[in-house]
Amino acid sequence: MSLGTLYILSAPSGAGKTSLVKALVERQPALTVSVSHTTRAPRPGEVDGREYHFINERDFLERVEDGGFLEHAKVFDHFYGTARASVQSDLRADRDVILEIDWQGAQQVRRQMPGCQSIFIVPPSRATLEQRLRTRGQDSDSVIERRMRDAVREISHYTEYDYLVVNDAFERALAELECIVTGNRLRLGAQARRQQALMRDLLA
Ligand code: 5GP
Repeated sequence: MSLGTLYILSAPSGAGKTSLVKALVERQPALTVSVSHTTRAPRPGEVDGREYHFINERDFLERVEDGGFLEHAKVFDHFYGTARASVQSDLRADRDVILEIDWQGAQQVRRQMPGCQSIFIVPPSRATLEQRLRTRGQDSDSVIERRMRDAVREISHYTEYDYLVVNDAFERALAELECIVTGNRLRLGAQARRQQALMRDLLA
């Protein structure tokens, strides 16, 4: 029986999810971010084993066959997957684990781990979303349009989630995420097991 909580965080690209998760983990030492496997090429500055485990398509599909992934999906032409073993060992060690995954992966995880908590993060307006997708380099209008379409498709699944966080001001969104994590750590099931000795003593 695991003590930790499994969190799913999904967002359209441009919602600021990665920066929020980075700050959240710095503030909450019991949180671990799962490092996914992907078949896409590393971007400049990305390190194998830190942002992702970068693997080729043959190895990826072999792992799928072996049942090594808790979930996997094709997102924007590449495969992404979450290794089952590391998530389970972290949860057993009373660590909360964050999966930064898309809606397809979220559906698979919910089916297998009914106790998971899923959070959807959105930008504060459509204009902000478009602006954030634009400021990511010198992209053509057609590339931006495709990103907007992909973002809207991801957002269309928001009602499947337990929580909705609007990232209008970074600090506030971060505080809201912290509330969710802290609130879940205080829920009776895991707390009763963590605080067994105290409760026995108080009731003696
Ligand atoms: P990027 O390639 O920009 O890092 O990520 C693209 C998309 O893939 C993001 O929406 C991200 O949430 C999703 N993603 C990253 N890792 C995983 C994973 O392990 N499983 C699933 N299903 N989606 C993932």
